[in-house]
Amino acid sequence: MTGCATAAKGWLRAAKSVAVLTGAGASAESGIPTFRGAGGLWRNYKPEDLATPGAFARDPKLVWEWYDWRREIVAKAQPNAGHYALAKLEQHKAAFTLATQNVDDLHERAGSKNIIHLHGEIFVERCLKCAKEYRHRKGPHVCECGGITRPGVVWFGEGLPEAALKRAMDAMCSCDVALIVGTSAVVYPAASLIPLAKRCGAKVIEVNLEETPMSGIVDCSLKGKGGEILPTLL
Ligand code: NAD
Ligand code: ZN
Repeated sequence: MTGCATAAKGWLRAAKSVAVLTGAGASAESGIPTFRGAGGLWRNYKPEDLATPGAFARDPKLVWEWYDWRREIVAKAQPNAGHYALAKLEQHKAAFTLATQNVDDLHERAGSKNIIHLHGEIFVERCLKCAKEYRHRKGPHVCECGGITRPGVVWFGEGLPEAALKRAMDAMCSCDVALIVGTSAVVYPAASLIPLAKRCGAKVIEVNLEETPMSGIVDCSLKGKGGEILPTLL
């Protein structure tokens, strides 16, 4: 850990209210590939070519195959030490909100309670015709109304669920400490939650393997794996 780790620990200990933003890096140590970086490719397709409304309109079967593959990976994965550390932190704070860009359920399975899924959930599917939502089912992706269902996630070019984004913004703007874990901070509007927390007066701590566009504006940038840094920080 770098020089500010001790200060960051103190901020977190003293904080009454904590807001967390996680990205794909938070699940990387659980074996779930990130989009950007090694392991992000599937049958030579880039996520940007599959996670779009246009891709689904052109070839729903291909897109579902990709999500089925990803769901299998998630179902077999286990939460890592970082997920557990965040769940434990929640138990010690009067106010705690965890906004995640991840569509997996590892924060839930680690015991986190107040979770906001900014980009939806991979185990949800939604009918294109009547909008009925289902928990993931086996078999063909057809609704009882006969319409086909799509993954309940936010695709490139789509808006975020408004209520979820609003809740995340409120949490980031009212917290004493914002903890940013494993996000490349290039996907908007999620990335805008980081400068928002800063503008609203929170101490902002980033945990990432690499520099991000936000490293320069946060109060403490810690380089390393979430599963190693978070348990020592909290
Ligand atoms: P990203 O793939 O763009 O970036 C991942 C970031 O995590 C990188 O900055 C990388 O340096 C960092 N990282 C990798 N391993 C790490 C570790 N062990 N500890 C700490 N940091 C680590 O991910 P993003 O910023 O979340 O944006 C991509 C979008 O893709 C999101 O919107 C998300 O919905 C989606 N996505 C979700 C999952 C998932 O649900 N697990 C997986 C892949 C992509
Ligand atoms: Zn339907």
